Amino acid sequence: MKKITLTLALCLLVLSAAAQGPLIGLVCGHSSSGNNGVGDYYVQAVVKAGGVPVLVPTMFDKASAEEVVSKLDGILFTGGEDVDPAWYGEEINGAVDINGLRDTSEIYMINQAVQLGIPILGICRGCQVINVALGGTLVQDIPTQVKTKLKHKQSEPGTQASHYMTIEPGSHMASLLGVKKVKINSLHHEAVKTPAPGLKVVCLAEDGVVEGYEGLPFLNIVAVQFHPEKLIGGGDEFFLPIFKDLVERAKKFAE
Ligand code: MN
Repeated sequence: MKKITLTLALCLLVLSAAAQGPLIGLVCGHSSSGNNGVGDYYVQAVVKAGGVPVLVPTMFDKASAEEVVSKLDGILFTGGEDVDPAWYGEEINGAVDINGLRDTSEIYMINQAVQLGIPILGICRGCQVINVALGGTLVQDIPTQVKTKLKHKQSEPGTQASHYMTIEPGSHMASLLGVKKVKINSLHHEAVKTPAPGLKVVCLAEDGVVEGYEGLPFLNIVAVQFHPEKLIGGGDEFFLPIFKDLVERAKKFAE
């Protein structure tokens, strides 16, 4: 019996030594019927990048939200509904589909992650809610509020790219992707208007709409308005470095 226990203990030791990927929290959407969920493309992209994905549900009280975040090595804020403009001191003027529970939960989580220095990646709504949590504002409706010929809500499937963005030379994003200009997918009607203090816009569509920002090195944040996980899921791994970067930052944080 003792021998079996010892063998088991050794097996567990070996197993825990073999587990190397950092724990990456994927923040779930919260449906009106009360279900937490996240698109599989996010999960698969994190796995491909070497992270260990774990789903983070909407948490209704601050202490619980903070405790969940404190267990993670990295956190990804995913796509979804519009953020309530009240968070940035504006009336509703173009924002639709507001999910107050999700806003509250995610703002607790962003503040906690920032306080602890936990690496953050924001995608689409994630890009918007992080900016709002840290004091920035949003364009509530691009088609009616920005002079543009671009369709930011593309008719092509999400796995296809539809418009270009330029990348600020010398930025972290430029070092990840190695290009100045690249075609991305576009599935949004809101965007960052004023970036929060500490966040630098580094990706722009040709009409000036914000497609990405970063807060490095002081804020451990990278965020994009487009959906790299869908392009990766569609078979194009050009944007996988964005996920690998989250995993690398999470490894560094976990050390
Ligand atoms: Mn766009």
